[in-house]
Amino acid sequence: MNKVIIIGCGGVGTVVAHKCAQHPEVFNEIVIAARTRSKCEAVAKAIGKPNVSVDTVDADSVEQLVALFNRHKPVLVINVALPYQDLTIMEACLQCGVNYLDTANYEPKDEAHFEYSWQWAFRERFEKAGLTAILGCGFDPGVSGVFTAYAAKHYFSAMEYLDIVDCNAGNHGKAFATNFNPEINIREITQNGRYWKDGQWITTGPLEVHQPLTYPNIGERESYLLYHEELESLVLNYPTIKRARFWMTFGQEYLTHLRVIQNIGMARIDEVDYQGTKIVPLQFLKAVLPNPQDLGANYHGETSIGCRISGKDKEGKALTYYIYNNCSHEEAFKETGMQAVSYTTGVPAMVGAMMFLTGKWDLKGVRNVEEFDPDPFLEALAVNGLPWHEIINGDLEVERIDN
Ligand code: NDP
Repeated sequence: MNKVIIIGCGGVGTVVAHKCAQHPEVFNEIVIAARTRSKCEAVAKAIGKPNVSVDTVDADSVEQLVALFNRHKPVLVINVALPYQDLTIMEACLQCGVNYLDTANYEPKDEAHFEYSWQWAFRERFEKAGLTAILGCGFDPGVSGVFTAYAAKHYFSAMEYLDIVDCNAGNHGKAFATNFNPEINIREITQNGRYWKDGQWITTGPLEVHQPLTYPNIGERESYLLYHEELESLVLNYPTIKRARFWMTFGQEYLTHLRVIQNIGMARIDEVDYQGTKIVPLQFLKAVLPNPQDLGANYHGETSIGCRISGKDKEGKALTYYIYNNCSHEEAFKETGMQAVSYTTGVPAMVGAMMFLTGKWDLKGVRNVEEFDPDPFLEALAVNGLPWHEIINGDLEVERIDN
């Protein structure tokens, strides 16, 4: 009996729940849990299947998580709450003998900083317990790592240059909104940029480095260099990589709003006193911004995310390789009621869980996605809403800037 608990029922959790429910032969029973029971109930009702139920948990509390796991005895927990909850959920998994999967690496609430060290510190305990923790199994991180593993397995003897490119060419009609949790999103993109070059990390100013890149079926979009968490594990797992970077597109209107938000102090994550109450400005801002889950109805256009890789092919000849997926906001909304950013995160989380539950991903311990066999994952991804495409020996464009 494969019972899973999905923790978090926001944009991503909603997609994960819909997609898992499409495969009752794999996900025999599904429990959706977050702090706000009514949100979980609404999603369970929309799915309308007898094997989907709901529960309540504050995932900041190991004690509450342990009680939840003891009530349901799941095989696997799919963590699509916020990155703040990763460690408490992993700890509870160890206490109860439950496997774990997430889509974002741990980040302390009081510091806008993410890295894998906190979660990699659980390696020995998961291995000893015979449990698996799959880290970063959304799109990026997630499919970006699986795409890279697929390139390494089938095309390259040595990957040398890796550029992960993430374009959202959708339009939701709002002056300013984020596509996933605003607090997490704004913390991420207001940080310094960082990329890997010749064995070390190079730091850039926030959104300082940018260039136009052409995305399939979309055209040219200005793309900004960001630090992104999958770079950390990919450069360790593929030591032939000389340079690894991550690019994301932003519109001018978005960047102007972001600059104002920062300049007036609304991106601050420290507490301020407001009429005798302590508030965190960024958390207050989240409360007044559009909810990412409500953007789907009027969202048009598509996302395009992929990996552009160059290096030596299996015979040692120069090779360029681009592997990507385009996802339509409208189609994602029709199927799940959520826009493509939630969809492209939720589908890979379901597929990763499916790989684990069907025994296709069977390594124990704490693992990043590129450590597993990419083939069955990409096969399942393509038939579950995210088909992918390859361009061999095309112009990758990424050499216009060689930082
Ligand atoms: P939302 O803010 O829409 O949803 C977060 C959910 O987590 C809510 O249901 C919230 O419900 C729940 N939650 C928050 N705190 C707790 C808590 N202490 N205990 C239990 N539940 C909690 O976020 P998204 O759905 O947009 O994003 C979810 C995750 O996906 C994030 O970690 C994000 O970083 C990640 N992500 C990953 C991407 C990738 O490609 N890898 C891309 C986009 C997002 P409630 O408040 O009721 O508890």
